[in-house]
Amino acid sequence: MEECLFCKMIAGEIQPDVLYQDDDVLAFRDINPQAPFHALIVPKRHIATLNDLGEEDAELMGRLLLAAKRVAADAGIAEAGYRTLINCNAEGGQVVFHIHLHLLGGRPMGWPPG
Ligand code: 5GP
Ligand code: ZN
Repeated sequence: MEECLFCKMIAGEIQPDVLYQDDDVLAFRDINPQAPFHALIVPKRHIATLNDLGEEDAELMGRLLLAAKRVAADAGIAEAGYRTLINCNAEGGQVVFHIHLHLLGGRPMGWPPG
């Protein structure tokens, strides 16, 4: 996984603006925010896309959501509301192939997302 950007962050080779981490997940600010608050939450184990999830990843993905809840609360956007999403492959808009949950807030997000 030497070429994976998010694995390099997890390994400490690149230092993102970390918002939260534990044994299983890392959360950091997106470098190109699409909302006043935009974080990415990634599993510390490399999984390329949502298509690659297995039954064994069910708890890990739950931990991503629990981390999102915590990061949103810490950012002060929990009550106002926020959006979480996972892009998958080309038509989903995925450009980094290490699965990640986007957490966006700080403004009305609108629907549909475009
Ligand atoms: P995707 O389009 O794959 O769902 O989302 C990838 C996200 O990673 C994008 O929102 C992009 O701004 C973010 N990103 C790409 N390179 C970096 C980086 O070097 N640092 C950080 N913090 N975010 C990045
Ligand atoms: Zn990776």
